[in-house]
Amino acid sequence: MGHVIGIDLGTTYSCIAYLEGEEPKVIPNKEGLLTTPSVVSFTSTGELLIGNLALKQAVTNPENTIFAVKRLMGKKYNTEEVEEAEKKIPYKLTEASNGDVMIALESKIISPQEISSMILSHLKESAEAYFGEEVTEAIVTVPAHFNDHQRQATKVAAKIAGLNVLRIINEPTSASLAYGLNTQKNGTIAVYDMGGGTFDITLLEINDGIFHVLATSGISYLGGEDLDNRIVEWLTEEFKKENKIDLSHDKLALQRIKEAAEKAKRELSFTLETEIHLPFIHSAESGSKHIKQKLTRKKLEQLTEDLVAKTFPFIEQTFQDAKLKPKDVNDVILVGGQTRMPLIKEMIADFFGKKPEEHVNPDEAVAMGAAIQSGILGGDAQKDILLLDVTPLSLGIEIENDTFIKIIDKNTTIPTQKTRAFTTVEHNQRYVRVHVLQGENKIASLNTSLAIFDLVGIESAPAGLPQIDVTFEIDADGLVKVSAKDMESERERKVVVNSSSGLSEEQIGEIIEKKEHKEESGNEKNGEE
Ligand code: AMP
Repeated sequence: MGHVIGIDLGTTYSCIAYLEGEEPKVIPNKEGLLTTPSVVSFTSTGELLIGNLALKQAVTNPENTIFAVKRLMGKKYNTEEVEEAEKKIPYKLTEASNGDVMIALESKIISPQEISSMILSHLKESAEAYFGEEVTEAIVTVPAHFNDHQRQATKVAAKIAGLNVLRIINEPTSASLAYGLNTQKNGTIAVYDMGGGTFDITLLEINDGIFHVLATSGISYLGGEDLDNRIVEWLTEEFKKENKIDLSHDKLALQRIKEAAEKAKRELSFTLETEIHLPFIHSAESGSKHIKQKLTRKKLEQLTEDLVAKTFPFIEQTFQDAKLKPKDVNDVILVGGQTRMPLIKEMIADFFGKKPEEHVNPDEAVAMGAAIQSGILGGDAQKDILLLDVTPLSLGIEIENDTFIKIIDKNTTIPTQKTRAFTTVEHNQRYVRVHVLQGENKIASLNTSLAIFDLVGIESAPAGLPQIDVTFEIDADGLVKVSAKDMESERERKVVVNSSSGLSEEQIGEIIEKKEHKEESGNEKNGEE
């Protein structure tokens, strides 16, 4: 096996690392930078730009420049989350025939998986340029709370990019590996992870190389981007008050404001005051208008404090699930660029009664942990390390009256499996329908539907007599498999249901074929030129 890379596929930035000896090392991208914007842009001349070059297009070509695609992975179009996202992004979304969300570019309709695969291809190429050889194996990280659809979609994106995923690993768990191996400390740690678009909290116990996740919780729609949007809303409001001009439908202006807002937010992590200056943000016959606004750290905190506060019920939930108290935590580590914000550090310090650890690089820890995991799987890691992760969501089935019953509880150590016996409710019933769901709600339809299948060909028998054993399995990647066996029939039949990534095998095959064809004709332009 050649080099195995660890990939932190972030909402806003991505990072790759590998294990050199026992040391995880970040691999620079083709421009020599340690993180790469998770952005893809399709230009009017048919060029495909990825990473920094794509990011530069965000202002001039907002409708065809795709960022934060991670928030759309494995999602249905008709959901509250996607509706909310749509209001804040300049590119258009649409619905696939199976209900999945798709991205409507001016030139074509494309799936979030394909956009992600382009980012992964770009990272793969950076690693190949670094090593001078092909890279085909990877460990890919995902937010701990990602459900099965989101994990499957990530795996498909890697497949399209030509990467075989050896393991999907949860981002906070990955960061804890980097931290644990670096410090060699034992104890209970909390990982607070806020990146560009997602939030996760994980409690783990580290004991002589055993990393045991106790509980995890999080949300796909809370991250740095939401804080940026608060600044954007404030700036456009102020501008409206001053000039009686509404910029909220001017995509170009909004993109410029968003970039400036994000930059100001970063600066305010290190300074108390900054100025946002956007000349010629609006031009009209009556003259040009500019934005010139002072933003203080205090004002930023006022605008965003409620968003940070939203993370605390999740933290409380994990403590409840792990049956621990904040005082039981030895170290708190912060992961994700957004945790550089002083307000987050202060609120965390208040809650835990101790300051978070300062020795973790929030941008690199996740990829570094993934690199360590590659060493564990490849047998290169010299120390004995055992990683025991958990499933973030309960797995179960729908029974009568839209009721959900849990079969595997959230926070169960994975891999795991449980078998449950089902029977018929009517005489001579020839099939049983099994609806598999993931979530915590007692009402089945409010959870995520993973698969519905019929177990057919049951022998005619009185109600309640046939025995059908259904086995629910969650593998080490957090992926779900369900199989059913009719114990009464002489022929033992097995139905295996894998939840879908949103794209069928045929569609995936077609995308890969098209991509290979394109690569042969070589019309991709990226970071190097
Ligand atoms: P990640 O997904 O971990 O790369 O995190 C990216 C998010 O972190 C983006 O929303 C950035 O705006 C935010 N971020 C990066 N650096 C800082 C900083 N110094 N202060 C506040 N937020 C930051």
